[in-house]
Amino acid sequence: MKNGIDVTRIKGIRMVCRKCHSEWMIPLDSTNIPQKCFNCFSIVPSEPIRDALQGLARLKSAAASNHKDFQFDAVIDKYPAV
Ligand SMILES: [Zn+2]
Repeated sequence: MKNGIDVTRIKGIRMVCRKCHSEWMIPLDSTNIPQKCFNCFSIVPSEPIRDALQGLARLKSAAASNHKDFQFDAVIDKYPAV
């Protein structure tokens, strides 16, 4: 598989509020996950976001480690889910 996505370039998670369409970025190293949308105050699912940030940070760290036998990339579906 040649066309993996370079995960060392991941900066964070982009969040888009489905109610008011506000969007913002939470950096991978953030320890302060917003509890509510800053615009309409909808509740943010902060626990899954915190888990996702930690998982992405670990993947990024693995990719940046330059393991002697393996490299780590991300793979996405060729076509969007319907
Ligand atoms: Zn909102």
